[in-house]
Amino acid sequence: MSQVLVNEFVVAGKMVKRTYAIYGGLVPPFTMELKGERYIMPGWYKMKQNEATPDIKDIAYYPYKPKKANIPNLPNIESNKVYKVKSSKGNSYYEVQLNVAGIVECSCPGYVFRRKCRHIAEFVQTSI
Ligand SMILES: [Zn+2]
Repeated sequence: MSQVLVNEFVVAGKMVKRTYAIYGGLVPPFTMELKGERYIMPGWYKMKQNEATPDIKDIAYYPYKPKKANIPNLPNIESNKVYKVKSSKGNSYYEVQLNVAGIVECSCPGYVFRRKCRHIAEFVQTSI
């Protein structure tokens, strides 16, 4: 099932921006009109009269992804568990963990920039 999430940015009590996101499902977002009402689909979000119809490209889309498909090669990594991996200098530790989307993340600065790092490579190697 798809869900439409609406985010409103309010400045000084006045709504300045509204963004939309489709979560789940396998159908990309589109807008449609039915009996004089406008909807953001999939998810049947009914737009208010004063709401501007958004550009399709402005609607974020997070399709449904089966979780297990992403982690068949990481049998020994438990989700929700934080693993500590030593930094290259050996004087500190970074936290490596499997997130809910099945992606291994690291707390080091390198991962933040490149979305991959030595710690994850090392960690995955030793976990298989
Ligand atoms: Zn790292």
